[in-house]
Amino acid sequence: MIGDGANGCAHEEGLEFSSSAVYRCPVCGVGLDAAGVERWVREAEKERDEAYSLVEGEGFGEIALQELQREVYRRRKVLYGLQEAPRAVSRPEMVLVVYEERRGVYECSVYYESPRSAWDTKRFSVEAAGRKISGLRSSTDLVARLVGEKVGEFHEARRELRDEGLHPPARRVFYASEL
Ligand SMILES: [Zn+2]
Repeated sequence: MIGDGANGCAHEEGLEFSSSAVYRCPVCGVGLDAAGVERWVREAEKERDEAYSLVEGEGFGEIALQELQREVYRRRKVLYGLQEAPRAVSRPEMVLVVYEERRGVYECSVYYESPRSAWDTKRFSVEAAGRKISGLRSSTDLVARLVGEKVGEFHEARRELRDEGLHPPARRVFYASEL
């Protein structure tokens, strides 16, 4: 059977989100992390590529090749489905912003109450130069835009404190209610 995994299961019914970092096959129960799913896709691509060099020009080979190609598409679809689905629904529970004086950078960590995808973006770096904050605000990613705005607010508040001769805090936590 094409595409057998190490345990002999081709994960025919796809993979399902199971916990923050694991996707499970409902048939065999095997759990794969994000890198594992990507590897699983690459395995099918490799099989197809190897078949190309073997069967060129033969009628039977064409059919086998098509089947291998279909398996590549099927696995990619599973992968894209896992990557895409959660982004629209997951909203961060908490965003921690820490200013690193030496590098002039805000390090942002995004936390989810129940992460739905191992691809959820967890960390961003935002450069601060003078009054300006670069990046993120114009990002196509909703969460990145949100974080960019919050960093902007924090940066502005810190600047005001400094203008008043006060020592601004280096860290700030934004909770879901503020996001
Ligand atoms: Zn399986």
